[in-house]
Amino acid sequence: MSVLPAVPLEVADLTRAFETGDLLLHYQPQVDVSQPWPKIVGYEALARWPLSDGSFIPPDQFIPVAEDCGFVLTLDIWVIETVCKELARMKKAGALQCLGMAANVSPQQFGQRHFPQSVADILTYTGVDPGCLTLEITERTVLDEDETTLENIHALREMGVTLSLDDFGTGYSSLFQLRTLPIHEVKLDRSFVSGLPHRHQDAAILGATIDLASELGLRVVAEGVEQADQVTWLRERGCNAMQGFLFGRPAARKPDAILL
Ligand code: C2E
Ligand code: MG
Ligand code: MG
Repeated sequence: MSVLPAVPLEVADLTRAFETGDLLLHYQPQVDVSQPWPKIVGYEALARWPLSDGSFIPPDQFIPVAEDCGFVLTLDIWVIETVCKELARMKKAGALQCLGMAANVSPQQFGQRHFPQSVADILTYTGVDPGCLTLEITERTVLDEDETTLENIHALREMGVTLSLDDFGTGYSSLFQLRTLPIHEVKLDRSFVSGLPHRHQDAAILGATIDLASELGLRVVAEGVEQADQVTWLRERGCNAMQGFLFGRPAARKPDAILL
């Protein structure tokens, strides 16, 4: 599938695509490499807007449009609901272990007073174990320290949902967030991982981040792993899981089909 060059997007086209069921999720595996044989432990769901000519509009282009018009609130809930239905389906199909499924959540959503209740309702009606659902938080979510946002993050943690800090290291207040947020996991941003193993600055920053995260009891996931020597470096430094084109590109196939 090729990616379209950036074009101005109309909100009406996006909402129509959603209403007609054209938007879909692709799933990218996350792999535990602490053992000699890598094992898939979860997936990240990534929104896709395919076009009839086989190309697609990437989320980097349509998510900002959805955020500007507020439609992202509907989109985020749909992503969480779809992910939970997928988890329920896998459980029903006899999955032996609870694979984690991660959904990206926009900053606006975390600021909605009813967000934790919406997640609780979805978990209840799909029958999914809250710990199997991971919600990814970006730095923008907590930048302005909105009270409702922080209350919601704590409420979700109390519900047992797994919380992950996405694109770690790219923002200005990442260390502050480590101190204040009740997160379970940090995701090392691809912009650092791509410099491994040779770029000294990236290696130094990632090494220190992994040490700090493990000292704080946080799981570390590396994003954008594309090369075997990056795996070797990250494994030696104690990174818990990896995600990247080396292990699998985001794909439309159902996660358990990817597993088989
Ligand atoms: P993200 O959450 O950090 O997702 C990881 C991005 O890195 C994905 O891009 C994925 O396809 C890409 N990626 C993964 N491994 C590799 C690799 O080895 N090499 C390279 N070059 N890229 C890799 P994608 O799918 O284009 O998504 C971009 C961003 O859009 C996401 O970054 C996330 O912030 C946002 N996004 C995607 N889906 C959703 C969604 O459903 N809701 C919201 N609110 N945001 C979303
Ligand atoms: Mg993400
Ligand atoms: Mg990321």
